[in-house]
Amino acid sequence: MTTGYSKRNFLIILSAPSGGGKSTIKNEILEKSEKMEYSVSYTTRAPRGSEKDEVDYFFVTENKFLELKVKNEFLESALVHGNWYGTSRSFIESKFNQGKHVIMDIDIQGAESIRKSDIDSVSIFILPPDLEILEKRLRDRGTDNEESIRKRLYNARKEIEKISDYEYLVINDDLNDAVTEIEAIIKAEENKVKRYNKIESKFYGG
Ligand code: 5GP
Repeated sequence: MTTGYSKRNFLIILSAPSGGGKSTIKNEILEKSEKMEYSVSYTTRAPRGSEKDEVDYFFVTENKFLELKVKNEFLESALVHGNWYGTSRSFIESKFNQGKHVIMDIDIQGAESIRKSDIDSVSIFILPPDLEILEKRLRDRGTDNEESIRKRLYNARKEIEKISDYEYLVINDDLNDAVTEIEAIIKAEENKVKRYNKIESKFYGG
């Protein structure tokens, strides 16, 4: 039992090639653990369909976004297809203060910026067993045309070159196994000595 010990929470970064299964894995982990929160980003794009403000994104104007950017609110930000997106520092810190870990899926550049920031994070790369399986998953998904599939496979090779920047690698052969492995990584990371608060005072007082 670790009753009475307080531990610091951290950010879990998931990256994977498109079709690698990171969204499914992320959703599964969020569903299974009350201690886990999804990182809600800011964006300047308009909400789509049933998307809700503060749930899917914080939807803001470009002026507001740039104002927040200047104030160092974003751990990283990027212009994607003409719209700004940014990972919110204050959102993540408020979840840490509520005793939660925060999980996010992000591309390799975003992950690199976050690793360089002062936020405590653990980065995990998720990979399908091989490129043939990745291609099959992209085709089975039925959402991409041939050109888009080719582009995603090309990008996957580039992304895979960055694996050594990550702390952990999980092969997503079986979804349940991949989720179990990520849960084990989170458990081990929670027990790192650096994440216990004031361990000495528990024994020596003061
Ligand atoms: P969508 O508009 O379809 O929700 O997202 C468009 C793209 O923006 C996706 O590739 C998504 O991963 C990326 N994106 C969403 N939030 C963030 C963020 O906070 N930072 C960065 N760098 N990219 C993001």
